[in-house]
Amino acid sequence: MRSSKPVPIEVCQKIDDVWLRLGEHYGHPELRPTGDPLGQLVMTVLSQHTTDAGAERAYSDLRAAFPDWASIESAPVEDVGAAIRFAGLANQKANTIQRVLRELQPDDLATDTTRSVPAARARLTAVRGIGDKTASCVLLFALGIPAQPVDTHIQRVSTRIGITNGEKTATGIQNVFEACLPPDSQTMYAFHVDMVRHGRQVCTARAPKCSMCVLSEICDFSAASRSVTT
Ligand code: SF4
Repeated sequence: MRSSKPVPIEVCQKIDDVWLRLGEHYGHPELRPTGDPLGQLVMTVLSQHTTDAGAERAYSDLRAAFPDWASIESAPVEDVGAAIRFAGLANQKANTIQRVLRELQPDDLATDTTRSVPAARARLTAVRGIGDKTASCVLLFALGIPAQPVDTHIQRVSTRIGITNGEKTATGIQNVFEACLPPDSQTMYAFHVDMVRHGRQVCTARAPKCSMCVLSEICDFSAASRSVTT
């Protein structure tokens, strides 16, 4: 689903400014698609509500415990849950992984450059347990299709800066970014990585470091804070 309302040019220009400033500060990391959409999908499910280290350990343990995806799909759910216990919410995630493996059709994960981003994402989100963010991660990181995953860091940072066009949800913000950013996967990837990094290092949830932020000149939150203190 695209943005429900038109995105004004000023919002797109501000997104472009953010992209340039973050790129100057952090650099623009290069996307190297993994070519492993199923692995990316499972890894993204495992990474929900846990640390990167926990998800990576769980993924590694899962692949070591079973010879292939088919055996994960047909295993007792408690065995899958035991293998991924380091990710937390193990039973819930084991159920999701098995359901996804059962319901996904091979064509859902095909690299198809003629399919639009919304159409490619819709194929994945039709499977219960796959939301927009997970689908966008698979499209971008594994297949190199220019979708924009919006996590809690990006949602928080973009809302503070004032580049969401009033959208409150991750899906709404995703649609604004996809409407404004150039539809190429390298730009989508660099913007995503730099925004997440900025959210983790500078624009943190509890104490944003506005005085040392490269976006402070153009940030709505920072401007409002300054007007309160002057
Ligand atoms: S100026 Fe402050 S609120 Fe705005 S992006 Fe930077 S750290 Fe976040």
